[in-house]
Amino acid sequence: METGLHERDRAGVQDFVLLENYESEAAFIDNLKKRFQENLIYTYIGQVLISVNPYKQLPIYSEAHIKEYRNKHFYEMPPHIFAVTDNAFRSLIEENRGQCVLISGESGSGKTEASKKVLQYIAACSGHQSTVEGVKDKLLKSNPVLEAFGNAKTNRNDNSSRFGKYMDIQFDYKGTPIGGNILNYLLEKSRVVAQTPGERNFHIFYQLLAGADATLLQELHLERTLESYNYLTDGAKGSVKSIDDVDNFKQVQQALSVIDFSADEQREIFAIVASILHLGNIGFNEVEGNAQVDSRDLVVTVSRLLGVNASELGAALTHRTIDARGDVVTSPLNQELAIYARDALAKAVYDRLFSWLVQRLNISLQAKETRGARNNVMGILDIYGFEIFKTNNFEQFCINFCNEKLQQLFIELTLKSEQDEYRREGIEWIPVEYFDNKVICNLIEEKHKGIISILDEECLRPGEPTDRTFLDKLTQKLAEHRHYVCHEKAPIHVQKIMGRDEFRLVHYAGEVTYSVNGFLDKNNDLLFRDLKETLSKSGNNIVRSCFPESELSSKKRPDTAISQFKCSLNNLMDILMCKEPSYIRCIKPNDLQSPGIFDDQLVLHQVKYLGLMENLRVRRAGFAYRRSYELFLERYKCLSKSTWPNYKGSGGAKGGVQQLVKDLGYNSDQYKMGETKLFIRWPRTLFDTEDAYQA
Ligand code: ATP
Ligand code: MG
Repeated sequence: METGLHERDRAGVQDFVLLENYESEAAFIDNLKKRFQENLIYTYIGQVLISVNPYKQLPIYSEAHIKEYRNKHFYEMPPHIFAVTDNAFRSLIEENRGQCVLISGESGSGKTEASKKVLQYIAACSGHQSTVEGVKDKLLKSNPVLEAFGNAKTNRNDNSSRFGKYMDIQFDYKGTPIGGNILNYLLEKSRVVAQTPGERNFHIFYQLLAGADATLLQELHLERTLESYNYLTDGAKGSVKSIDDVDNFKQVQQALSVIDFSADEQREIFAIVASILHLGNIGFNEVEGNAQVDSRDLVVTVSRLLGVNASELGAALTHRTIDARGDVVTSPLNQELAIYARDALAKAVYDRLFSWLVQRLNISLQAKETRGARNNVMGILDIYGFEIFKTNNFEQFCINFCNEKLQQLFIELTLKSEQDEYRREGIEWIPVEYFDNKVICNLIEEKHKGIISILDEECLRPGEPTDRTFLDKLTQKLAEHRHYVCHEKAPIHVQKIMGRDEFRLVHYAGEVTYSVNGFLDKNNDLLFRDLKETLSKSGNNIVRSCFPESELSSKKRPDTAISQFKCSLNNLMDILMCKEPSYIRCIKPNDLQSPGIFDDQLVLHQVKYLGLMENLRVRRAGFAYRRSYELFLERYKCLSKSTWPNYKGSGGAKGGVQQLVKDLGYNSDQYKMGETKLFIRWPRTLFDTEDAYQA
């Protein structure tokens, strides 16, 4: 039923399946734009929610709105993220099916905000006993902590997540949240030591300097001036208008307390953050090819904060020990290598601190009682979208690989399973053509033959492997692959824009040219043994647990960065594969982070690489709504005299539904009767008329 809250949702169509000209990109964009201009940021393609970032606070997330969407049928209400969440939540509680909400879109499109709305809705809708308030509070408070350490101001988003996140919320059988678990993916740790012009380091550094009181600053040997720290001076200078570092620091401290971090733990965390700032200020002189630290005092400060021995740290920053089958040789580093070692240390310490934080949050979020709650899990995935920049590096390669995997999951979970269900139910259906990106996933990850294997092989090869020898190997082995383009074989117009140190992949979402520069280095992700050894003896509990001794004694070479990523992605796919998905596709309307501006070209670009047109084509061909005859009859029997209050004819529930759809005048090509379920092509056309019958 429409109420005052939603009176204005009348612009354009609420569901793209109703768009007359559904194969036209122009019509698609036009509909999004019309709605955007009326502040209607949500539109469906069937069950997939499209969300356009309004860049302003809209009054559509109030308690009243939450109530409005609670327990309503998906198609009876205007499109909203609460409707999608409610739908998923109810399948979870009523049908005991694990759920996942998959949020995708480019940087600044609103993924993280969307994930918070999902959480907000769940927290508001679920039980209110005092015992669960604590769990909910912790779930909600985990956000400011993760954002402080994992987000940064970039040129595209003042609060950009620089890591991927998957959060599971566990419920008991009544639908009350009892715990949670977070998985983190690939933090962009290079940001710790260098930033692009206009960008900042991770928020926490600025928060600490701006928000810490005098005592804490003194304890950490810090001064408030940002310019004092080399790791903060590459990019944007200082504070950002939209960000209140002082207030955010208060929130982080408060959140840490709510999540049960002890005072000691908090002190250790901030000591590590401070140590990184000081570490960045350590410089090196070179005497006869040997690096020497230029400030002994700084080494002492860093070692105090990290809880390690100062002379040992000084030596570890300027020497390298290699243990070749028992032959232990220590040799001095030159200046360049010492800088490399220092930066590698800063990155490793920060990266491991971040993972430690996630693990620590998980301990606090762990459900006390898990009996009977095995399937009652709802996952929320907020992960980087497809990236095509002017120059694309190792990071983009990883991110785009992740997006290929998610597209593959989309195909498996929606397209394939859909066709299976039609078959099972004996429904006639003409299969729709769609592009299966399995071939690209294989190109990247296939054992022995894929790009990842070739990269790892090159990293491990004795001799002098370089980025260029890696590129040569790729071309040798993959030149014939239809989704791999090398410089030599590229069409003339592509060759013109491709460097000799680049290769190009034909992704499902478009073609991307990658520069191989830095691939080997980033994949090896080397931290010299001497530094690991020093940290493994730290008196700071967090540092010690981040650099366990076992890592040193292990004979096995640590996995490369890409192999670790591939492994964690495959685990994620396994988790998601057994859940029922809800999709939220986020779109950024302009590059200015401003309200009211809708850039057609920019949106079109995103519509293309989110695959929305294909998504719509598939949706149009299928049946968007399906319900068992029993449930459908129970829900809608009031719409006809012959089924109200009860259907008494023959054929049971199926017979009743048959009678009902006849009475309602459903057109025969709008629905199909399966073995056990009714299938409706575009439910909104049908349910929109409901008010008239009730009148
Ligand atoms: P990244 O990939 O860089 O992390 P993102 O997709 O997570 O980007 P968000 O951080 O969620 O993007 O959104 C960017 C900004 O857009 C937010 O800080 C907020 O100002 C604004 N925004 C996003 N969604 C909404 C919304 N629903 N209502 C109001 N403002 C929003
Ligand atoms: Mg984000």
